[in-house]
Amino acid sequence: NILIKLENIDKVFYTEDVETHALSKISLIINKGEYVSISGPSGCGKSTLLSLLGLLDTNTGGHYQLASHDVSDISKQERARIRNTEIGFIFQSFNLISDLDVEENVELPLTYRKDLNKSQRKEMVKNALLQVDMAHRAKHFPSQLSGGQQQRVAVARAIAGNPSIILADEPTGNLDSKNAAAVMTLLDKLHAKGTTICMVTHDPRSAEQAHRNIEILDGQVVSDKNKSVVAA
Ligand code: ADP
Ligand code: ADP
Repeated sequence: NILIKLENIDKVFYTEDVETHALSKISLIINKGEYVSISGPSGCGKSTLLSLLGLLDTNTGGHYQLASHDVSDISKQERARIRNTEIGFIFQSFNLISDLDVEENVELPLTYRKDLNKSQRKEMVKNALLQVDMAHRAKHFPSQLSGGQQQRVAVARAIAGNPSIILADEPTGNLDSKNAAAVMTLLDKLHAKGTTICMVTHDPRSAEQAHRNIEILDGQVVSDKNKSVVAA
């Protein structure tokens, strides 16, 4: 039931004459259905790790296997195809497109998929908006929504394509406590339905909701605690 397998992952950034070892020898297995939080001080490599997991960037060493794909050494097109079918992203700043309405924002990642036709896409968008309780705002534009509503639309966009994993980067970082709680409740519901979630967070209360807490320091995993194991 392995979904993600990282073996000795390194990521080095080269800028002018400086080498930054953002990740060093990360080995990690994430199983289907896990709810994982990743935390650690600023600059420790959390975003870099999430970018690698999400196929937004490539590792400089080691191997990455996602679902049945060995993604360490594949073409750009293949990476994009796997990203569009297997991964849903949620960002701190929502990243909705301001001149697309709610429906169009949620549909956008689906339009890159050659396996879906228009009516399938419409159905998936409708479904996703119902799940986040935003169907009544389908024709609104992002500027007409509160922050909490925008993040719910972003969650709909992330789940619309039934991805294998949701990657969330500080999903509550720009929300007040009430809206943050609403988004965390949504993630909980998705997890309960079997969705795998991996979330970078500074917020101890958000990390608390995850079932497994990974801590990064200086590009390395320094702690990896599974709650169900602790409780048993
Ligand atoms: P975090 O998300 O934990 O704050 P990051 O993953 O953003 O940390 O950064 C890890 C390290 O890699 C930092 O030292 C950062 O400066 C460096 N880094 C991140 N992205 C780049 C980049 N595109 N070019 C050069 N260095 C980078
Ligand atoms: P929620 O708690 O569901 O996030 P809010 O309490 O923030 O909702 O918003 C209440 C109502 O105000 C909603 O119906 C929303 O559509 C509307 N609203 C919020 N912000 C704006 C805005 N900037 N422009 C127009 N309507 C807005």
